[in-house]
Amino acid sequence: MTAVLNLHSATQTRPGDAQPTASPTAAAANAAAASFAALTENLSYLDAASIEQVRQAYRFADEAHLGQLRNSGEPYITHPIAVAAQCAAWKLDAQALMAALLHDAMEDCGVTKADLIDRFGAPVAELVDGLTKLDKLQFNTREENQAESFRKMLLAMARDVRVILIKLADRTHNMRTLSDMPRSKWGRISSETLEIYAPIALRLGLNKLYRELQDLCFTLIHPHRAEVLAKALRAARGNRKELLTRILDGIRDKLAHAGLRADVFGREKSLYSIFRKMKEKHLSFSQVLDIYGFRVVVDNVPTCYVALGALHALYKPVPGKFKDYIAIPKANGYQSLQSTLIGPYGTPVEVQIRTREMHYVAQEGVAAHWLYKDIDDSSADL
Ligand code: MN
Repeated sequence: MTAVLNLHSATQTRPGDAQPTASPTAAAANAAAASFAALTENLSYLDAASIEQVRQAYRFADEAHLGQLRNSGEPYITHPIAVAAQCAAWKLDAQALMAALLHDAMEDCGVTKADLIDRFGAPVAELVDGLTKLDKLQFNTREENQAESFRKMLLAMARDVRVILIKLADRTHNMRTLSDMPRSKWGRISSETLEIYAPIALRLGLNKLYRELQDLCFTLIHPHRAEVLAKALRAARGNRKELLTRILDGIRDKLAHAGLRADVFGREKSLYSIFRKMKEKHLSFSQVLDIYGFRVVVDNVPTCYVALGALHALYKPVPGKFKDYIAIPKANGYQSLQSTLIGPYGTPVEVQIRTREMHYVAQEGVAAHWLYKDIDDSSADL
């Protein structure tokens, strides 16, 4: 593994290490087995034969990584299990889950592609091989255009979209546990995630993951600024509560009176998106926070337009701000009606109106295709 993308180089145990978990003790093995058991509880969407194949991949990976530790001191296998768990949350197929469990085995344990073809078949071996090749790509520059061409190369190399999804799950778990690494590594790995992987998540429509990656990176690159901003946000949330509740109740009542069934909730801005808006648009913290965002989720498309009419009657819309991403979806599949309204005391109120399925796609992006099987499979390919 190259130095640039190697997050695990210090995890190998050496004879004579005094760490209490340095040998694969019964307790460590039990902890890993318990986390695999937790994973299997989320595999009910697969048939029994597929679950058995996933279990075989786990046993193989567990043995291959035996004796290796994460920086946290946990058995290394907890990492592939966490990556597979993220893939299971996206309802990826058995081959992808097996590849997730095996993704570091070729790199770190001397397992060959031929071994994997032999044990698990060519498709799983191809996925693992694709992931291993991605790990060898180096990204050393901070130039924006270089980042774009690096992302393109990465996407082209992956071919199978499952490779990208497993890679994103891998990077996400490494980011979530990055604070276990020496502080000197936080900046570079976070910058790479922010410039390469977060934009790929956005491009695939994985908005929830995109926001999480950005906030993790921001917190690790600018720990002090993130802390100040988080504190200010907590304080502001208290001040905002009354107006937020008033607008929320207003929207709910209006929709109920129109006879519409709808889930309405407030939209929280991520730390990083507040930071970026302040920086790029030269706004103060309170100016960024002065915009109130709401989501309205309804049963079907016609109801979206009826709800829009009801909300435009409740608060006047700002001219030129209405967008119909239902009729004209964004390139990554995002669909919603968007409008900005003038709320109480002239407060800008941004609303997004969408169906349940559109909501799921907006959160999980391309991964949602595995859940909505009626969507043409070819649209999930890159
Ligand atoms: Mn990994």
